Amino acid sequence: MILSDLHANLEALEAALADADGRYDQILCCGDVVGYGADPNAVTEWVTGHVPTVVRGNHDKAAIGMADLEDFNPVARASAYWTQEELTASNLDYIRHLPQGPVPVDGFQLVHGSPLDEDEYVVTPTDAWMVAPYVDVPVTFFGHTHLQGGFLLHRNGVRRLPVGPNGPAHYSVTLEPDQNYLVNPGSIGQPRDGDPRAAYLIYDPETRVVDFYRVGYDIPAAQRKIVEAGLPDRLALRLQYGQ
Ligand code: ZN
Repeated sequence: MILSDLHANLEALEAALADADGRYDQILCCGDVVGYGADPNAVTEWVTGHVPTVVRGNHDKAAIGMADLEDFNPVARASAYWTQEELTASNLDYIRHLPQGPVPVDGFQLVHGSPLDEDEYVVTPTDAWMVAPYVDVPVTFFGHTHLQGGFLLHRNGVRRLPVGPNGPAHYSVTLEPDQNYLVNPGSIGQPRDGDPRAAYLIYDPETRVVDFYRVGYDIPAAQRKIVEAGLPDRLALRLQYGQ
């Protein structure tokens, strides 16, 4: 099971875990455990106990003072400062020790942004084409964009995987042999593709099947906590639109 961009959203995380129950061997994470959401401690503690391999994201760096917050928009900056204050010493310590991607795992790798730059957004086929020459493993799981799907990096061009928002709750893609792919599970805690459902995937390296999933969760509960925490209202509102 591959997760990304949890963003301290405990309700979304719990819904995804319940949905995937019994269908995976281990959990891996492409970063951004915290930031934006109201449960940074509970989500970090769950990750500490259940996810052996996590690459750090830009919001994880922000939480430990490693990111230049001048690069963040005002809402993201406000949430980064709030998260810094909220996290316990042991959770800060855990986040401080998260590795920078790429992190290799049996036959594939995990990154937050791109294999070249952990802070780079790979959104379009052109973005994927630019990093393709630097991808030397068959499957790279990435996050950061909060957009479920990905790209086939064919030598003649890049093809988008046929996965999009507001579709079925489960979509299966079989990866072709001898090709390289960039694959994004989408965001657990703050989807941005216009589909508010939490996103994740399950990958079977033996069959090369990627199963993409979307799952509804208790959005009003997550919104209430954000408002009660004094975080910007916009962070609560965007969850219901998946933006
Ligand atoms: Zn993120």
